[in-house]
Amino acid sequence: MNRPCNAKIVATLGPASADRATIEALVKAGADVFRLNFSHGTHADHQQRLELIRSIETDLGRPIGVLLDLQGPKLRVGTFANGPVTLVEGESFRLDLDRSTPGDATRAPLPHPEIFAALQSGAELLLDDGRLRLVVERCGPDFAETRVLNGGPLSDRKGVNVPGVVLPLSALTAKDRADLDFGLSLGVDWIALSFVQRAADIEEVKAIVQGRAGIVAKLEKPAAIHSLDAILDVTDAVMVARGDLGVEMPAEQVPAIQKRIVRACRQRGLPVIVATQMLESMVSAPVPTRAEASDVATAIYDGADAVMLSAESASGKYPVESVAMMDRIIAQTEADPQYREAIDASHTPPAANTADAIGWAARSVAGLLDVAALVAYTSSGSSALRMARERPRASILGITPRDSTARRLALVWGVQPVLSPDVPDVDGMTRLAVDTAKTLGFAVPGQTLVIAAGVPFGTPGSTNLLRIAQVD
Ligand code: PEP
Repeated sequence: MNRPCNAKIVATLGPASADRATIEALVKAGADVFRLNFSHGTHADHQQRLELIRSIETDLGRPIGVLLDLQGPKLRVGTFANGPVTLVEGESFRLDLDRSTPGDATRAPLPHPEIFAALQSGAELLLDDGRLRLVVERCGPDFAETRVLNGGPLSDRKGVNVPGVVLPLSALTAKDRADLDFGLSLGVDWIALSFVQRAADIEEVKAIVQGRAGIVAKLEKPAAIHSLDAILDVTDAVMVARGDLGVEMPAEQVPAIQKRIVRACRQRGLPVIVATQMLESMVSAPVPTRAEASDVATAIYDGADAVMLSAESASGKYPVESVAMMDRIIAQTEADPQYREAIDASHTPPAANTADAIGWAARSVAGLLDVAALVAYTSSGSSALRMARERPRASILGITPRDSTARRLALVWGVQPVLSPDVPDVDGMTRLAVDTAKTLGFAVPGQTLVIAAGVPFGTPGSTNLLRIAQVD
């Protein structure tokens, strides 16, 4: 059961999509990767969903990726004595560490010493997804006196963003560490790290994960955008997390940042997911707005690896319809002749190394000969990633003996992951590639395949072989 599109769909699971029938319908509608959002739900909820995914995967014979999204250090105000208060523009408002005294209309507890340690007068604080804005006038290690720039209602535990400041926070909280251990024990394929500020945040998680899952850096803070290259040097994949990004930075800057991140990831061959509010109105309506359809298509024309649904599939009224709609937008966009022009125009030259030379050569051969499919025989997935980096016209079969690699490749542009037995040698690999392409309907006798691999087999990052095979 293959999906004919290049771009992949990540669907978040939640109360609206927790049962077997719905998850299976999501897969059939086009979901390639499921996101388990650890900001919500219990370990038992997530375990049950993962077990359902694995059983559906076996039944449908198609590798499915699972992405565990860690909550990260989400900052929040404390509670209020008598329910919500209203902050009034121009008035002063105090934040302090005194969590034992509930807040009122003039002050609120903010139980995060790291914020006060990093604040300076003039810094801005955004509350409740950016709806309220405060500017710091005076501050110390345990308080900040602020002036209200944008007022409005404020209630218990609303989120706080401090956009212009690099906070001395680990990207992993105690809850994240427990969630990470749990997710790794379940065997998730990707770990998404929230509120990444610097490359060291990724390195900290990598040291714990030890290759058992790929790392997705969620880019949602200005500090991460400033350190983009250093973060891309160490992460395995990226999510453009436009929800918090659009709070931490002015919304009008998000489109350009999205394009910059997608381009930088494509240049390096790192999978990139465009996320949040893609079909937001489908939370409560059976069709999206025209602007949302256009937003999904823009990410596809830009060559993003994947587009993501959050509340649309997790808690909305139309989870399956949202995935089906996304799938139709992707298919329609990829069928547009302008799509290929856009993908080719944004292609960047490969790096001067053997693996990229093979990927580039595979694309050139596919452009010259009438190639039915490209095949990457891959243990770690890296040969398939190098091929996908080239965004070739023909489909890429990512054949691998490792189920963890097949599942990770479910996120990658143009790659149809296929689980296979080990092969003894290059001739055995060629036989396997030809048989697989025929069995899955990617090629018929007389057609040509381009095969890339790394020899000796099983050595990650060793892509060094290109073979042109006739299908017999
Ligand atoms: C986002 O902020 O866009 C995002 C994907 O993260 P979360 O849904 O965890 O807030």
